[in-house]
Amino acid sequence: MSKKQYDILACPKCRGDLEHKDDALICYKCKLKYMIKNGIPLMVVEEAKPLE
Ligand SMILES: [Zn+2]
Repeated sequence: MSKKQYDILACPKCRGDLEHKDDALICYKCKLKYMIKNGIPLMVVEEAKPLE
């Protein structure tokens, strides 16, 4: 997956925009961090990590 393809992904919780940062996609609205593993983003709310 290229960087551009991450842009079309939306937060599964609020459908908002995500910011691609290092190995994660971040939703600032939900304060959640969706990890990217082996180039595949884990778009599951239960698996998301809270933002510090
Ligand atoms: Zn969200």
